[in-house]
Amino acid sequence: MEFLFGPVPSRRLGLSLGINIIPHKTCTYNCVYCEVGRTTNLTVERKSFYDPEAIKREFVENIDKVGKIDYVTFSGSGEPTLNKDIGELIRFVKAKGYRTCVLTNGSLLYLDEVKNDLMEADVVIPSLDSARKESFLKVNRPHRSLKLEKIIEGIRDFTKAFRGKVWLEVLFVKGVNDSNEDIKALVDAIGEIKPFKVQIGTVDRPPADDWVEKLSDKEMMDIYTYMSAHLDVEVDLIGGFNKENDRFYEDVERSIIKLINIRPCTEDDLKRIFSLTETGLKDKLGKLFEKGQAFEYYFGGKRFIVGNRSMMKEKMA
Ligand code: SF4
Repeated sequence: MEFLFGPVPSRRLGLSLGINIIPHKTCTYNCVYCEVGRTTNLTVERKSFYDPEAIKREFVENIDKVGKIDYVTFSGSGEPTLNKDIGELIRFVKAKGYRTCVLTNGSLLYLDEVKNDLMEADVVIPSLDSARKESFLKVNRPHRSLKLEKIIEGIRDFTKAFRGKVWLEVLFVKGVNDSNEDIKALVDAIGEIKPFKVQIGTVDRPPADDWVEKLSDKEMMDIYTYMSAHLDVEVDLIGGFNKENDRFYEDVERSIIKLINIRPCTEDDLKRIFSLTETGLKDKLGKLFEKGQAFEYYFGGKRFIVGNRSMMKEKMA
């Protein structure tokens, strides 16, 4: 098969059948962490790379052999929105009764034609690795015509108009886009974009550039806690925490304290944010109550957990 791949089991999408509609490493970016390798055709020119009828034919001939799938995902070895037939192909797949998802770097969403092409999809996952020009250039190494402000505006305007769900993805590379300044700028940009949720992760496959390093669990946990506390949208850690590791439990305790010192949380919030069971959370909170690091606070008939350094705690004094 030339265009279809998978189905691939995915934590986010269930069972997803991929469609690759872009020639190998044709992209608007040349990301340092790209798992497909270095970009060989750095371009912003949208083209019809293949005969769309050939892609449709391959889909029809193979879809029954694939079995039950949850999504058909446009992704692959380059930036799928560079293919100007993507809108037609999304509509075709939807008309066959399948849910569609597009994995995009979001760089062309400022173009009306790209916005319109993706409107019929069910889920769009754009990436935004930095909201600061300096780190954006370092991590994504974009085509010289691309401007970060326009890209953020494009993702924001698309999200506003789109009827499906936008899950924004951020990938962190150690020492490149993970400074406090970077995280704060990202939080501001995401606050404007207002996606359905944010998925954050770090490098976990061999990158295009050898020097690229991943963040540690602790560093990811700190970013996760900060973003969860400062954003009104759900933040999801791709790959989850390494719960086999004892350090995970120490880190969760520390992160709960950080979070409840910034923002009052219900028990349900804490269970969801830190993927804890009822018993796991009770155990953690029991210790924090005992040490005087957490307190109960009632507001509007609801019980919240607050930290000993939160503003709520001062009010209670
Ligand atoms: S946008 Fe995606 S395909 Fe393009 S270089 Fe970056 S990671 Fe690779």
